[in-house]
Amino acid sequence: MKHILKNSIIPMAVVLILVSCKTGTTSGKKNELCVGAYLTEEQAARKLQEYAKLYGDAGEWKMRAEKIKENIYTGGDLDKISEKEWKYPVMVIRGRKHVLDGYTVENIALEPKPGYFITGNLYKPDTITGKIPAVLCPHGHWFKPGDYGRFRPDMQKRCAALAKMGAVVYAWDMYGTGEDIQHIHKDPGALTWQCYNGIRILDYISALDYVDTNRIAITGASGGGTQTFLIAALDDRIDVSVPVVMVSAYFFGGCVCESGKPIHKHGAFETDNVEIAASIAPKPLMLVGDGDDWTKNLPLVEFPYIQNIYKLFGAEDNVEYAFFPDEVHDYGFPKRKAVYPFLAKHLDLDLEKILDKNNKIDESFVTILDTTQLKVFPGRPLVVNPMQAK
Ligand SMILES: [Zn+2]
Repeated sequence: MKHILKNSIIPMAVVLILVSCKTGTTSGKKNELCVGAYLTEEQAARKLQEYAKLYGDAGEWKMRAEKIKENIYTGGDLDKISEKEWKYPVMVIRGRKHVLDGYTVENIALEPKPGYFITGNLYKPDTITGKIPAVLCPHGHWFKPGDYGRFRPDMQKRCAALAKMGAVVYAWDMYGTGEDIQHIHKDPGALTWQCYNGIRILDYISALDYVDTNRIAITGASGGGTQTFLIAALDDRIDVSVPVVMVSAYFFGGCVCESGKPIHKHGAFETDNVEIAASIAPKPLMLVGDGDDWTKNLPLVEFPYIQNIYKLFGAEDNVEYAFFPDEVHDYGFPKRKAVYPFLAKHLDLDLEKILDKNNKIDESFVTILDTTQLKVFPGRPLVVNPMQAK
């Protein structure tokens, strides 16, 4: 099996120790949460210096990376999900299909366990020849009417552009958002089930007969960036990872779906989102940051740390960053323009499909569909305020 962790060969004694510590008092668990700006920028930079002393070569980093991944798995309570829930065949519910300029959009819900639905859209190139790459596109906490989650115009542009370049792309509702009226986003289990959803989507997408399972990427911004590096860390079927405006040494994510479980700290063990993002090394990784959020130090702090890890593998060509000092916290056009060539290079996509006559990236071919057109269940209301506490 390709899943590293759900079939992990962690010795049972270690598992028992981890579980017995973790199931102590609630306050003990809370003490291990690293929420929001958990560290100052100075503390965070010092932590990275300390972490760098814990490994000296690729093999030692690999061992640390395994520990980081195991801690997400157990700290994130993915070990509490039953074997049955991992193994149910993913059922597919098909809604409308839209045939557009060089790509199609199908409204598709997945049912990874009975009565539990992941709602989303599958974008595909209009013609498929042989095996093609796949890109998972999670979204962040954007919940304004008209600019909501997977329905956002910038999400539609990203998915459509990647599909026109030759990939199959799935965009889906965050846990308890959009069409997912079954759950509440602020549920304490949000982090667990959001990771579960990503892994089950990989089960679905990697089983499509036209998907090249050696070319699977994931990219999202903000809370979608958190999903990007968590799913990439948890499941080695991800070959390329592009977390956008999220990887920070001092900021750990402010929502329960990002930092509501002790995935960064357990006993004496500590890590951060920089190391979690780097845990896929030496596979291709691109970081995108801007000057207006917690990624503002990316060129000076986070990227050099990750680059040093890739140097241990002699794989510096596989890690890149794009930084926009005058930009803000989004996955806007300048950021997409930086990401498309990176994904084209590592997934063997055809960038020319989205270039205009002057060889500039041009998304004007994209048709922005309205929310009703993109719903799998047209009669189902959207979750209006997913950030509302239970
Ligand atoms: Zn959240």
